Amino acid sequence: MIPGPTDYHPAVLAEMSRPMVSHYGAEWAATFAFVQAQLGQVLGTESEPFLYAGSGHLGIDAAFHSLFEPGERIIVVENGHFGQRLSQIARSHGLDVTPLAARWGEPLPPAALRAALAASPDVRAVALVHLETSSGMLNPLPTLAAIVKEAGRLLIVDAVSSAGLAPVDADACGVDVLITASQKGLGAPPGLVVVSVSEAAWAAMRARHSPITGWYNNLLLWREYAETQRGYQPYFITMPVNIVRALQKSLEMILSEGLAARFERHAALANRFRAGLEALGLELVAARGYGSPGVTAIRCPPGLSASRWRDELLATTGILVAPGLGPEAERVLRVGHMGYNARWELLDRLLDGIERSLRGRSGSSGAK
Ligand SMILES: *Cc1c(COP(=O)(O)O)cnc(C)c1O
Repeated sequence: MIPGPTDYHPAVLAEMSRPMVSHYGAEWAATFAFVQAQLGQVLGTESEPFLYAGSGHLGIDAAFHSLFEPGERIIVVENGHFGQRLSQIARSHGLDVTPLAARWGEPLPPAALRAALAASPDVRAVALVHLETSSGMLNPLPTLAAIVKEAGRLLIVDAVSSAGLAPVDADACGVDVLITASQKGLGAPPGLVVVSVSEAAWAAMRARHSPITGWYNNLLLWREYAETQRGYQPYFITMPVNIVRALQKSLEMILSEGLAARFERHAALANRFRAGLEALGLELVAARGYGSPGVTAIRCPPGLSASRWRDELLATTGILVAPGLGPEAERVLRVGHMGYNARWELLDRLLDGIERSLRGRSGSSGAK
């Protein structure tokens, strides 16, 4: 139960052991188009999402690299490890990044974003993380997106760990580039990045002064290829066909449950887990009301490091969870409850192990 990769449904895993098929030809083109359409439903977009071999970071690289030229200005919302990572990646592409920081687990005040945009008309875009996997916090995407759109800027969203678990509503929020990956809320093994691009973002890529350099991660090339080869070979590279079929199976299960029901089930389970943790006197990293449906980050009791706690819980419950990320890595324990792992029997077993570990330490359940 680390925050991805997760365990996957046996029917999804079974797809991985099927015989190979070619990554071109009418049959594959139809499969691929079907997966793109399913993905579009989950992401809330009418546009055709791109998916290709790589992990989530590749899509973030693609977004900054394809949209912007060195020296251009963007704002990055930084309230966790993955927000900081967005800044790091943007700077690696020569962008001039203005970070807007809030404490990990705390939302950025909307007024701060509004003021920063008003003060900097030359800022071209805002990049933010939806589910901040380091703190277990769900950033209020619709609220922040509305401010970015009102100011007429591009919006880039890292939805690597939220897609499939919470509504991302890419079109309704006006997201210009949305990035996710197969291995978290989408419920399939790692290996596929998903990038959804708005018409405004394509226009921005076409309006660049200098052409996009490089080849594999040039989004415009992917689009041109996809448009000319439709119905035969979706892309110019070999696809990890089995992962695409595993993703197809998972998406089929997600959509047959129904998106609203799935989001609601994850949120309810996460709330119940958090209530159980708080009843044990434990403190959560995400501010109240901002806890996410996919990940919960717990502050470690004094004197207990995250790696020791994790090892102890693995030994007593058979469940593997994760330490934190960044400077407080050893003071935070992170539990993923995504997809096939979002089951109360597992969270209940973990809660029970946590309770026993606290009792074993102090003779009381008080952890503060
Ligand atoms: C997991 C994660 C990533 C990294 O994705 P990779 O697939 O490991 O490259 C990026 N952002 C967030 C919010 C994540 O949870």
